[in-house]
Amino acid sequence: MESNTSEDKWKNKLTKEQYNVLREKGTEPAFTGKYLNHHEKGIYKCAGCGAPLFSSEKKFNSGSGWPSFDQPINEIKVQEKVDTSYGMKRTEVLCSKCGGHLGHVFNDGPKTTGCRYCINSISLDFEKE
Ligand code: FE
Repeated sequence: MESNTSEDKWKNKLTKEQYNVLREKGTEPAFTGKYLNHHEKGIYKCAGCGAPLFSSEKKFNSGSGWPSFDQPINEIKVQEKVDTSYGMKRTEVLCSKCGGHLGHVFNDGPKTTGCRYCINSISLDFEKE
């Protein structure tokens, strides 16, 4: 049997929980993520590949239970894709560089963009400014 070397590489690099979210599109339980109530200034990077994705300046408290941002650092850093799993029509957010699953984006954001990027803490690594 042929092994999927790219997925093996991710299995070695990521924790089981990170793998479940980043590579298998899982979701961390609401209100459990380490960056939910995190207010330091800095950059949130992809936990899979290190690409800079979101700035603390665009983070807000959405009450959803996941870290929320009104926009990415740069729109080319993330990919958005229609996701119809679980009988819902949602827009999935992925890291453009490694394809890792980050979360979903909704159009009920409170700020100027109207967007709410609802992102799993476990998909992110924080770098203090
Ligand atoms: Fe990535």
